[in-house]
Amino acid sequence: MSNLAYHFGKGLYLNVTNRCTNACSFCIRNGHDTVGDSDVLWLTSEPTADELWNALLQELLPETEEIVFCGYGEPLMRYDVVLELCRRIRAHCTLPIRINTNGHGDLISGQSLAPQLRGLVDVVSISLNAPNAARYDEICAPVYSNAFDAVLAFAVSCKEFVPTVCFSVVDQPLTQDEIAACQEVSDRLGIPLRVRAFE
Ligand code: SF4
Repeated sequence: MSNLAYHFGKGLYLNVTNRCTNACSFCIRNGHDTVGDSDVLWLTSEPTADELWNALLQELLPETEEIVFCGYGEPLMRYDVVLELCRRIRAHCTLPIRINTNGHGDLISGQSLAPQLRGLVDVVSISLNAPNAARYDEICAPVYSNAFDAVLAFAVSCKEFVPTVCFSVVDQPLTQDEIAACQEVSDRLGIPLRVRAFE
């Protein structure tokens, strides 16, 4: 058990940062300190790629079915570390790699990240969170003024380079009509939507 690598379902999750460019009203971090079998996920300092790699090797189990970059924060805040670890994982095993992200990667990095994910990442799961920019700003309080449009653009760019791209929304505080509108956005972009229950 660790606060850098922990088990949730059949996944091995890596906690690369606590920083995030959103402050979502529904964020699990508002009410919880742990996920799965993790230690408290608040970090006293950001781990190096070597520290994360060692934690991964220590926690990798025969029954692990995927490796997930998830935070307790936005993993692409440290896109360089994530990419380095993806390269090491690819050289070490054939497990699929997923990134759970708020979709701000291009804004954070100042470049198009999707081409760099080619061959390294199998699944990008992007938090859509809202059906439009105004509602996104209310729910997620992003540090960027153009975050919602950037999330959509990031998702579309990932489709070209990553085998599976999906959106997710949490069923609170959205109304049923808003969830239906999120589905319309997803359908328009040809990206599947998963509705998650608020925890
Ligand atoms: S993007 Fe994720 S980690 Fe960041 S505030 Fe929202 S729910 Fe929390």
